[in-house]
Amino acid sequence: MEPEEYRKRGKELVDYICQYLSTVRERRVNPDVQPGYMRTLLPDSAPVESESWERIFRDIEDIIMPGMVHWQSPHMHAYFPALTSWPSLLGDMLADAINCLGFTWASSPACTELEINVMDWLAKMLGLPCHFLHHYPNSKGGGVLQSTVSESTLIALLAARKNKILEMKTSEPDSDDSYLNSRLIAYASNQAHSSVEKAGLISLVKVRFLPVDENFCLRGDTLKAAVEEDRNCGLVPVFVCATLGTTGVCAFDNLAELGPVCAKEKLWLHIDAAYAGTAFLCPEFRTLMTGVDYADSFTFNPSKWMMVHFDCTAFWVKDKYKLQQTFSVNPIYLRHANTGAATDFMHWQIPLSRRFRSLKLWFVIRSFGVKNLQAHIRHGAELAKYFELMVTNDHMFEVPAKRHLGLVVFRLKGPNFLTEEVLAELTESGKMYLVPATINDKLIIRFTVTSQFTTREDILRDWSLIRQSAINVTNLHHGPVISSCPTPSDYKNTLNTFNTKYDDKENVFQKISDQPKHGALQDKDWVESISDDDLDPFDDCFPENEPVASKHRRASFLYKYCSVQEKKTVRSFSCNSVPVHNAEKLVPRGEPQKEDSIVSNIPGKVMILEKNAFRKLIKFYSVPSFPEFRIQCGLQFPCCPLEAFV
Ligand SMILES: *Cc1c(COP(=O)(O)O)cnc(C)c1O
Repeated sequence: MEPEEYRKRGKELVDYICQYLSTVRERRVNPDVQPGYMRTLLPDSAPVESESWERIFRDIEDIIMPGMVHWQSPHMHAYFPALTSWPSLLGDMLADAINCLGFTWASSPACTELEINVMDWLAKMLGLPCHFLHHYPNSKGGGVLQSTVSESTLIALLAARKNKILEMKTSEPDSDDSYLNSRLIAYASNQAHSSVEKAGLISLVKVRFLPVDENFCLRGDTLKAAVEEDRNCGLVPVFVCATLGTTGVCAFDNLAELGPVCAKEKLWLHIDAAYAGTAFLCPEFRTLMTGVDYADSFTFNPSKWMMVHFDCTAFWVKDKYKLQQTFSVNPIYLRHANTGAATDFMHWQIPLSRRFRSLKLWFVIRSFGVKNLQAHIRHGAELAKYFELMVTNDHMFEVPAKRHLGLVVFRLKGPNFLTEEVLAELTESGKMYLVPATINDKLIIRFTVTSQFTTREDILRDWSLIRQSAINVTNLHHGPVISSCPTPSDYKNTLNTFNTKYDDKENVFQKISDQPKHGALQDKDWVESISDDDLDPFDDCFPENEPVASKHRRASFLYKYCSVQEKKTVRSFSCNSVPVHNAEKLVPRGEPQKEDSIVSNIPGKVMILEKNAFRKLIKFYSVPSFPEFRIQCGLQFPCCPLEAFV
């Protein structure tokens, strides 16, 4: 490709990107493809002769887009948001063209210096302690961009480990590092992200996942008792990862209680605020991080909610020398005239090379300004509140954990399979994308407000689909409870009511409620009439005295999901998200299941799976699989103007 062609194609691609992002809400959110779908669409081997750009370009829509989950869609409610924005895209366009590898200051001074200054800006924007600033009197701290929160947590643990081993060496100078390592122990709540467990696996530091209180919050006394117990067993506590905004239900650990325990016990306090960190741009959310002054390190993802696209993870440390003593290697070819005097970020991270990530962060901060970034966060939180209001006002549903920020968790009242079937139906439709989690053995659906372009109309449209699906599912299991659902035009009328005030709920609720047929059972009635026999046998998971899964009633459930107690209950996506399979394959919809019946097409082997083996199985189901998705027909509302927030 010659420069002139690049100029032309580049402009075309920018046009394509604009079109794609401006109309993304019209696309099916999750794809309707089977594993291996691309194999037949691509030649077996690479082209020997060059191909024209036209042909390559055409394949974007023909081959790539059919297999995409559209993360920028307002109807994407799965996981946490992973947003992008125009200035962010421009930042990487430039960084990709420069393509420097800024490992040392000398390898690209601007790359290091912009990052230092923008990380100071960002720390001040969030109201983080001054000891995290590069430029502050007597500060030994500073911020750096890493690729992911997972990597940041690993780095923090490695730094804490190194520091503790050096400390132990003063009294045990002859002990081998690996022996000292084997005595270390770290802590996190049982709600912590799977990356904490992974950091433990990599560093060979034991991690103990501690129980939480009724708000899914890790408390100081729990930590204190665990530390005491472990010290009595000869272990050496070294590290605590506190989470602000857990992945399951967006819960917040109590830093004000954990901090003093860490300070007293000389534990490194690391804070994972992957999603919620962005909310601290708004002073009104900062009470959620009271106690942050105790932190030795803090990490969050501007690549989640702050509209700086992946990868961009902010990571600050209080004492950069502890980081550098962990990662410093200094071969001669990397030394330069300012070695020592300048910051060489290669000593702050695992890889050597690093991208010019601060450019997109700088572009985003400057072109939005703090004010518009705050407005974006408030908009997301308000929309989540709006959705929550609709859920709590509908007696078919419950919200089993307090809403924080942009995440609402909800479920259908009654046995888990109802919620599961609603989720399966919605996922299959491709009209929105949601993922499940479990809390205390209750299956829940997570609903995050993602895009900055999400409108109240989008939320209302999705709520109406969720509600319609709930009605379908309850009708299926309990006869015709409710026979009609609102049509899109009903909603458009309803919208007019909403357009004035959020709190005008009563009125609206009557409008979108479905009237049961004369004489029919109220949906509320049947929820209350559910007997123990109707309850999902796996609501209690596998009781300890039940070693063989096949002894359970309703074995078809084996294929649906399994929720387990304690640590694995709501740990993270890798543990708490559960496989959702197409129930139709096992039990045709509408066909009542007999008590104690075992559906015949379940392979015999599954029947004899031991409890422990089965528990292990769930680890492999980190996200729902795609194979069951079907073509959907869209229910679309007009798109809001893209300029809204830029
Ligand atoms: C998303 C998330 C992570 C993982 O972030 P990566 O950057 O993908 O590693 C870790 N912790 C929490 C609480 C998260 O929500």
